[in-house]
Amino acid sequence: MRILIVGAGVIGLSSAYYLSRAGHDVTVADRHGDVAGETSSGNGGQLSYSYVAPLAGPGVVSKLPRWLTRRDSPVRLRPKLSLEQWRWCFEFLSACTRERSELTTRSLLSLSFLSRTLMHELIDTEPTLDFDFVRSGKLVVHRDANAMQNAVSLLEFQRALGCEQQALSADACVELEPALSHIKPLLAGGIHTPSEETADCLRFCEGLAAVLRERGVRLLMNTPIDTLRLNANGDVEALQNGAPLATDHIVVASGAGAAHLLKALHIRVPVYPLKGYSLTFDLQPETVAPRLSVTDFSRKVVYARLGDRLRVAGIADIEGYSLEADPIRLGTLHTETAALLPHLTGSITAREWTGLRPATPRGTPIVGPTRYRNLWLNVGHGALGFTLATGSAALLADWLASSTGHELRRTFALAN
Ligand SMILES: Cc1cc2nc3c(=O)[nH]c(=O)nc-3n(C[C@H](O)[C@H](O)[C@H](O)COP(=O)(O)OP(=O)(O)OC[C@H]3O[C@@H](n4cnc5c(N)ncnc54)[C@H](O)[C@@H]3O)c2cc1C
Repeated sequence: MRILIVGAGVIGLSSAYYLSRAGHDVTVADRHGDVAGETSSGNGGQLSYSYVAPLAGPGVVSKLPRWLTRRDSPVRLRPKLSLEQWRWCFEFLSACTRERSELTTRSLLSLSFLSRTLMHELIDTEPTLDFDFVRSGKLVVHRDANAMQNAVSLLEFQRALGCEQQALSADACVELEPALSHIKPLLAGGIHTPSEETADCLRFCEGLAAVLRERGVRLLMNTPIDTLRLNANGDVEALQNGAPLATDHIVVASGAGAAHLLKALHIRVPVYPLKGYSLTFDLQPETVAPRLSVTDFSRKVVYARLGDRLRVAGIADIEGYSLEADPIRLGTLHTETAALLPHLTGSITAREWTGLRPATPRGTPIVGPTRYRNLWLNVGHGALGFTLATGSAALLADWLASSTGHELRRTFALAN
């Protein structure tokens, strides 16, 4: 079958890989000149298979006043005159129950473990892929005793679902990651997950694009899809410059742009952008920087080594589609970094970046069919698109091949 994928981010390219392996004739169209032109280029670099608990959790309602008023809060809500934003926030708040959050965590763990297996298989199958992939292990540090206690409870819940994690004292955290030694007095402890991995998502996308071209997949760059419409047979067409692109099926993998593209067909996907920021430091051999992937839990900032660079990422702003950097929010990320890694900042200039996480209120992506026979979705991966890319893409390819959903596939379909 001829399949057109809209979007050459990590989700579209991974979808192209599994669909082409299944024998389809695949084309990917993107409005940018290069692959990963949007959110997949500067993200936190975490393949965070065991850290999938959604933002919508039971403690969120009490944090709302802080999110609305403080400009240094890790999450910030800037209310707009936008029905789309208010509807998303309402659905998000409705999902902030323990039951819903545990259900989401359970389904996302199934998808993330599948993704991990497939990522390892992909690395073995495609030896030319080189994307600073390291099994770094992850250390999530907690500054607050209550937060540490909650993390231990989550660890026990997740252990039953197959995660291998250990709770550590402040001393043990610093022994494992000496770059944190100066904040030891501030630490209540940490959770260590040896199996977690880090890698450069942009390099992954570029490498995968090269593999795809070798496989005969066409990558149409500088090709914006203007709209989707129904033809006389009741099939969906993708229009470029007013003319439909020739294809049998269409997969929408357009990240934060998904809701707008699908509106023309009256399909509502609850995908809304959560703006985030990252900093990238080029490290000198003598620079003191973490070797492990580190998450500063209370600040919601992640630190990952990508080859000889350090990527720092965080902040979630619910404020619409603008990519413009707010100097105050960037300042917050610089300040957090300087507080955790004082040796790093000052001497080295960081490259600053903003991106839009394509987030659903519950935190689960939408993967699968639509009410139109030839239109498919792979969208809404929020803060976990790199982590979940291989699993989501394989699920989609699997579903396209058989058209009936087994249990894991049905979990992520639009109706849910
Ligand atoms: C600060 C930050 C840190 C993050 N850290 C991590 C992390 O550590 N680990 C992790 O797993 N995830 C992380 N994420 C999330 C992850 O980056 C995203 O989930 C992922 O990149 C989404 O990929 P995507 O392919 O869906 O979207 P994108 O990468 O945005 O790709 C969508 C593509 O669709 C194209 N497009 C849209 N509309 C059209 C159209 N009409 N016509 C043609 N092309 C179109 C766009 O040009 C774009 O190239 C982070 C995100 C942010 C912002």
